[in-house]
Amino acid sequence: MSTLHLSLVIPVFNEEANLPELIERCLKVCEGLGRSFEIILVNDGSHDASEAIINRFAHAHPGRVIGVMLNRNYGQHAAVMAGFAQARGEFVVTLDADLQNPPEEIPRVLEPLEDGCDVVGSVRKNRQDTFFRRVSSRLINKAVQKATGVMMRDYGCMLRGYRRSIVEAMLQCHEHSTFIPVLANSFANRTAEVEVAHAERENDTSKYDIWKLINLQFDLLTSMTTFPLRLLSLLGGGIALVGFLFSFLLLGMRLFYGAAWAAEGVLTVFAVLFIFIGVQLLAMGLLGEYIGRIYEDVRARPRYFVREVVGIERDPSPAIPSVNQ
Ligand code: UDP
Ligand code: MG
Repeated sequence: MSTLHLSLVIPVFNEEANLPELIERCLKVCEGLGRSFEIILVNDGSHDASEAIINRFAHAHPGRVIGVMLNRNYGQHAAVMAGFAQARGEFVVTLDADLQNPPEEIPRVLEPLEDGCDVVGSVRKNRQDTFFRRVSSRLINKAVQKATGVMMRDYGCMLRGYRRSIVEAMLQCHEHSTFIPVLANSFANRTAEVEVAHAERENDTSKYDIWKLINLQFDLLTSMTTFPLRLLSLLGGGIALVGFLFSFLLLGMRLFYGAAWAAEGVLTVFAVLFIFIGVQLLAMGLLGEYIGRIYEDVRARPRYFVREVVGIERDPSPAIPSVNQ
């Protein structure tokens, strides 16, 4: 069915400083493979010159550089999904637009795919991130390993490869809070990991602010497991039991030692109360994270809207789903 060998999918959000170099390097690497390819750049509602740059390259290399313009910013993973919907390659490789994943490493990701792997992850050889990012991503990787049972060492690195069947399976998933590397692993039979170089972000800063980062972590957590919900009820039950026993104790002490003792114990009671209230709010917050996501999915709004696709040679109208639920 598929005539192309490789589709590169690259989400782009305000990356004007990196785009020209990125596309040039990707073209060079892909041409070196000697197979058919397409480079799909998904413009995730950038406010800078990214769209103009993508347009320029798409017109200069029709059929090889394709721009998918979303009408606004939907987030990295939604953008990658939009790229997947457009991709026609037998193998699909994703990478970031910020040149932290050197395009020269693409052949190393491609190799295991050609050998029959479904999903290829990558491990950053010399991580160039801040200490905070390193520690938090190690914690996340451990949690994902526990929850999905798939052993991959590095989920943060978006230089990854997927077989066509896995991409199609992912496109069937309509949930909004997707975390693509984890989603892919839930369909994969054979997986592999390769070591790749990882560079520092050269131009400007990360496109993730603290809120996007927090949201991403919750996406990751809620998309892979409902275990925290169960933990919540266990924790709630445990604390309620302790509170019950404690109130019995207090009552006993009050009867035994009289009112004077109870008055002096007021502060202790408050302290205990605050602990319980804190835990309850925490639990409710976690519950809310799930419910919020359920609400999103129940509304079933499209995950993104494509405004325009540039650089394709064939008739665009029938093949492209412009809306993905
Ligand atoms: N990105 C995107 N939409 C967003 C945020 C980021 O398409 O809302 C893209 C961004 O252009 C880059 C990739 O996702 O290609 C990863 O972003 P970034 O490098 O800022 O993330 P970090 O390296 O800090 O994890
Ligand atoms: Mg980056």
